[in-house]
Amino acid sequence: MITLKGIKKTYESKAGRFEAVKEVDLTINKGEIFGFVGYSGAGKSTLLRLINGLESPTEGTVELDDKVLSELNKKAIRKERQSIGMIFQHFNLLWSRTVLENVVFPLEIAKVEKATRIKKAKELIQLVGLSGKESAYPAQLSGGEKQRVGIARALANDPKVLLSDEATSALDPQTTDEVLELLEKINRELNVTIVLITHEMEVVRKICQRVAVMDSGVIVEEGPVLDVFKHPKHPVTQRFVKQDLEMDSKETLAALKELQALYPDGDIVQLMFEGRSANTPIITQVSRETGVDINIIQGSIQSTHEVPMGTLVVQLLGTKDERQAALNLLATYPIEVEVIDYAD
Ligand code: ADP
Repeated sequence: MITLKGIKKTYESKAGRFEAVKEVDLTINKGEIFGFVGYSGAGKSTLLRLINGLESPTEGTVELDDKVLSELNKKAIRKERQSIGMIFQHFNLLWSRTVLENVVFPLEIAKVEKATRIKKAKELIQLVGLSGKESAYPAQLSGGEKQRVGIARALANDPKVLLSDEATSALDPQTTDEVLELLEKINRELNVTIVLITHEMEVVRKICQRVAVMDSGVIVEEGPVLDVFKHPKHPVTQRFVKQDLEMDSKETLAALKELQALYPDGDIVQLMFEGRSANTPIITQVSRETGVDINIIQGSIQSTHEVPMGTLVVQLLGTKDERQAALNLLATYPIEVEVIDYAD
């Protein structure tokens, strides 16, 4: 539904040429929630501006439902852009207008008749959970409520695609979760394709089905979110995953250091399991059958779009043979096992 073919975007300035996006080929399917994650400067916003037709690529094409954006005339692009809704980190609301007037605004521009646009706006306000706040002004709302207004406004023209530019980055964790749940509901109930850009892997983990990791203008890794979490290949992806699973938190690193000093021969192993394997008493079984002692260093359960995902970092203590036997046995369970070297 959204196809990016051979995309390059170069900016010319006094300082010279700068390639913000270097070589991107990608298809985003109808009805999916797709995330672009990357650190600041990776080229995410540039890519989003190319998808919504605000800018055109230096090379390559952006197709929306088989229509090549750059081949359309201005009027056709404007029409196409109406089928794309957008939400922003700082909401971009009209501060002198009420909630209802904000949501009605795109319908006024689209010249929808007054009674129809008010009816539509009220339905959307209800959908995003803001009934009763129609006459409030943005300044009277919490951050989460402001973003709900942004979402209702973005949906006013029944878009096929909703683009989210760091929409939860200014919100606290609890409100972030609420907004992410709302986006999932919109995706499910209205079948709107959602493309989001974020620097937070947590956002990707919680609601995206697929992810592309960007670095220096290129997609360095791409795939279903669970696969990427289980086997992150590129160093940038590995860093994002580690950060999100708090494997590099101060507490975890301190515990690791302490245990490694106490038992220099122990293997540090990361176990990752999906949903149901959490019920198998793996640790006790492995310990009993192989004779290794197992120190638990860190453990957590994280939600994903599909199933909960658990991670456990443990230290295996025993003779070399015992530890190898434990690793062999662990490999027979439906879990991901990785011996990690924390020295790096
Ligand atoms: P991200 O959204 O991942 O932080 P951006 O797409 O905003 O990254 O920017 C990628 C790079 O392109 C940055 O180094 C930025 O300075 C540069 N860039 C973005 N827009 C322009 C522009 N209009 N002119 C010149 N350079 C730009």
